[in-house]
Amino acid sequence: MTVRAEVIGDPIAHSKSPMIHRFWIDALGLDADYRAVHVTPDRLGDYLSAALADPDWRGCNVTIPHKLAIMDHVDDPGDIRGTIGAMNTLLRQPDGGVIGTNTDAAGFYAPIADFDLEGAPVAVIGAGGAARAVLYALKQAGVGDVTMLNRSPLKAMGLLSVFGLRGQVLPLDAPVPPVALLVNASSLGMTGQPPLSVDLGALPDDALVYDAVYAPLETGLLAAARARDLETVDGLEMLIGQAAIAFELFFGAVPPRDRDDELRALLTA
Ligand code: NAP
Repeated sequence: MTVRAEVIGDPIAHSKSPMIHRFWIDALGLDADYRAVHVTPDRLGDYLSAALADPDWRGCNVTIPHKLAIMDHVDDPGDIRGTIGAMNTLLRQPDGGVIGTNTDAAGFYAPIADFDLEGAPVAVIGAGGAARAVLYALKQAGVGDVTMLNRSPLKAMGLLSVFGLRGQVLPLDAPVPPVALLVNASSLGMTGQPPLSVDLGALPDDALVYDAVYAPLETGLLAAARARDLETVDGLEMLIGQAAIAFELFFGAVPPRDRDDELRALLTA
């Protein structure tokens, strides 16, 4: 029996998740498959019914625009709705049901786990699903004041309140204040989206700049940070990190992270 996991979204053809999961499936020699499935918002319920009727279906990743809507269709034993507020992974349960969870928050945090953020001021651009995962992880890390820069200020204010974070909301064109960590969790800078243009002049020399956007890999934000000799983390780190947690949940096997360099080369070829 070839067990299977999937990634669903609308659109979905651009997704790099099949390449990541198949790389690990091949590396481990598993009898498994992972594929992308185009699911429009009105078909989420139909997709889940069909998936659950197929015994080979282990679960799926969920991407734009379904990360919030999917919460109405699945069980939520970990209270993801009440904490992060967005799901990116669904898992078939032995009793025939399906639960939702979120691996974006841990995937975001893993590359910066050694960076001491206790009480540190941070800035986050964006207030969508990715920002929710980022803010949840930063709250767990015990960060200090959080400056949010977003097109819709009320949405950003709402997130500060939801996550119990202290801070301020600034417009997108405001200079970034002197923070220890700047994260872009917006769609700006992504291929096909407007560029992200921020003033990094006030960042201290030891600040870390993290872009969740992975297409292109070398974003304008990361280029500007490198021009200032700041340490950077790119979006592939988070993408591979969240996928690794989901892979273990789907297939019960630990992905070979010692082959990340090979995987990154494949993803950027
Ligand atoms: P989302 O829920 O749609 O949120 C998008 C955010 O970008 C919102 O805050 C939105 O502002 C802002 N935005 C979009 N278009 C804009 C524009 N034209 N001008 C100004 N602001 C704009 O998307 P998401 O799921 O959070 O994803 C955001 C980014 O993170 C995407 O590039 C995605 O690929 C990336 N991501 C990466 C990973 C990874 O593993 N590396 C994981 C998840 C997401 P408003 O609040 O004003 O609408």
